Amino acid sequence: MVDFFHEVEDLTKNLVGIQSVNTAPGQETAIAGYIHQYYAELEYFKNYPERNILQPTTGDLLERHNAISYIKGTKQGGSDQTIILLGHIDTVGIEDFRDFSDYATKPDQLPAILKEHFSLSQEVLDDIESGRYMFGRGALDMKAGVAGHMVLMKHFSRHPEQLCGNLIAIHECDEESGSKGILSALDLLVELSEREGFDYIAAINADYSTNHTPDDQNVYVYHGSIGKLLPTISVFGKEAHVGQSFAAFDPNLLIAMVTRQVSLNPIMSDQAKGETTLPPISLKQADQKEKYTVQTALNALAYYNVFSHGRTPSEVLDLFRDQVIIAYDETIELLQQRYDAYCQMAGSEQSQLPWKTRVYTWEELAEELTEQSSEFPKELEKFKHDLHEKDRAMDMRMFSHEVVKFAWKKRADTSPGLVIHFGGVYNARVETMPESDNDKRLLDSVAQAIASIQPQAKRSIKTRLFYPYISDASFLAVSDDVASLKRLELNMPSYGTKYIHELDKILQIDVPIVNIGTFGKDGHMLTERVDKWHSFQNVPNISYQTILKLLD
Ligand SMILES: [Zn+2]
Repeated sequence: MVDFFHEVEDLTKNLVGIQSVNTAPGQETAIAGYIHQYYAELEYFKNYPERNILQPTTGDLLERHNAISYIKGTKQGGSDQTIILLGHIDTVGIEDFRDFSDYATKPDQLPAILKEHFSLSQEVLDDIESGRYMFGRGALDMKAGVAGHMVLMKHFSRHPEQLCGNLIAIHECDEESGSKGILSALDLLVELSEREGFDYIAAINADYSTNHTPDDQNVYVYHGSIGKLLPTISVFGKEAHVGQSFAAFDPNLLIAMVTRQVSLNPIMSDQAKGETTLPPISLKQADQKEKYTVQTALNALAYYNVFSHGRTPSEVLDLFRDQVIIAYDETIELLQQRYDAYCQMAGSEQSQLPWKTRVYTWEELAEELTEQSSEFPKELEKFKHDLHEKDRAMDMRMFSHEVVKFAWKKRADTSPGLVIHFGGVYNARVETMPESDNDKRLLDSVAQAIASIQPQAKRSIKTRLFYPYISDASFLAVSDDVASLKRLELNMPSYGTKYIHELDKILQIDVPIVNIGTFGKDGHMLTERVDKWHSFQNVPNISYQTILKLLD
């Protein structure tokens, strides 16, 4: 093993010391600037300053930057083969540190502060005692990973003769929210593939992971990545005064029933290659009434986090729709039962309630409205454009709901119903296919690298297929077929105005991905901490060996 430990440790501490909370004004640019300067001081980048880039994001409401640098290897005259090193430089907020948020960026002082002012579990106290961990916001997620990549870049900038190919490091902002950093970096990757002839053969992400069960002692390298979709329902009811409540179709009841059907239902867990995703969970459920009245709500929305390993967006949509129909049918049945029972109690005449299960996908609704009026697509575009211009910072999910609401009002039929759409960003699933040459080369190189590190690793290093958290790696590869992605687009009300999945660019890069990342505990929490030996020593060594094998 190469001794990377102390250099990566020091650099991680420096990076943690630069607060870079996602969207905090100036902070993401400050850390990008630090990294840019780190490279600028290296001899190699003094000779090739154009290979060290401070890239502003595009299509962003904030001013922030990525730091991107590349080295062209000279072994055997070099080659077009290029490896991408990927890592995000932003972190989540520091509110959980309460009055002690100044210490969130001070790994040396933080453990004492935590012990004195917070109630900690025995496990955390033991971990402090052991000295095995570095605490601090972003230490685990994922500044230690970024530091490792920087040290590798520094090494290869002094030894380009070791590489028959090129290395590009992307240190991107905005991973924790809108992925504006990686989406902007795509432009540069495409540009470099045209200008420098770069042929991307692998991407190494260094995002964090943690133990799978409480007594799990392994550490992990992941091939590919889990996908994430946000199926959303916009429900349109029939309002009534509370004095006539059986005349109402309450959208709150219907979304509650959908949540009951969908939430944590293993029917929607996705299994691929022996690995199973967690089932969905609701992330919002609310009607859109602004203040109290005695009228029932008019419309409501709910959205759900749905993971995928093997399922395409199109398959997720169909499966979700089946669950929604079940919930809708049950709602109508329940309403009728309660109405019948009430009529019996009150001695009034029973009758059939008028409700029917009415479920549209956004695509179906837009199609129906276009058939009804050829003007509809134009009106819709104008509405979306105006809404976006009025409030560019509007939440994407609320934007989508407003667009669906606008369309729903255009229907000739005023009866209640529900529209399914995708309200949020698609984090694409990435599956490694050993049948493909590039994938197989990466799998083999990583396996050999792990085998060579294992004897000194102090931990058992295991390989799994799907990185279980969301990461920016989802924007570097496409495992879904184009037809399925087209259906995703057609079912995203915000598509074209507020959101574009840069499919054309991603297809140009479409690279096999591995996550050789930091390891630790309590990511996104007060007690976030990174396992020093694995993250400062094993991780850069595995990546180093992988790079040498791929660009031999
Ligand atoms: Zn992360």
